[in-house]
Amino acid sequence: MPFYDMSRIEVLISEPDLQARIRALGERITRDYAGAGELVLVCVLKGSYLFLADLSRAIDLPLTVDFMSVSSYGHGFKTSGVVRLVQDLSESIEGKHVLVVEDIIDTGLTMGYLLENLQTRRPASLKVVSLLHKPSKARVPVQIDYLGFEIEDRFVIGYGLDFQGRFRNMPFIGVNTGAGAPLAPAAPASPAGAHP
Ligand code: 5GP
Repeated sequence: MPFYDMSRIEVLISEPDLQARIRALGERITRDYAGAGELVLVCVLKGSYLFLADLSRAIDLPLTVDFMSVSSYGHGFKTSGVVRLVQDLSESIEGKHVLVVEDIIDTGLTMGYLLENLQTRRPASLKVVSLLHKPSKARVPVQIDYLGFEIEDRFVIGYGLDFQGRFRNMPFIGVNTGAGAPLAPAAPASPAGAHP
């Protein structure tokens, strides 16, 4: 039994649909960057860690990965509008082709801040790949060079995206249809000494 309650989750994008789309994005990126200089995938933590893992394996080119962490949401549903750099890259991106890997672009505030920040470091090129986009919420115009899926304005969880820090390890993108967290009831504790 999974740790989440499927009767309270609507599947928005299934695991096979996610994987097929990511393979297609990887093929396009492979074509576009073939023969270019050094490619760096910049993963925006934490939500993009699964997307980075799958996308990087779908790109048939030599590349490096680096990580950045920004905070804009806290533990709520609404963006605060304030973006803060929590963890910076470990290496210089000067002269490199940078592809920022993001889980979701909602208002665009986070990506707008990141692009402005990264551009000052003089990369050879700077592009964006986002798994999801909620166009109805856009407050800052952001060019998304590679997009997985456009979705409506609903709070999504799974495949890296969290609800209060949890549910990132659900293998699909879903929406919580009930009140509270869609957790399955805890299994009864096994009797003492009952080790199979
Ligand atoms: P933006 O700055 O574009 O408004 O928000 C970007 C960040 O907000 C994402 O990286 C993600 O962490 C969070 N976010 C936006 N929409 C959702 C959502 O539907 N579900 C979850 N779990 N996080 C979201």
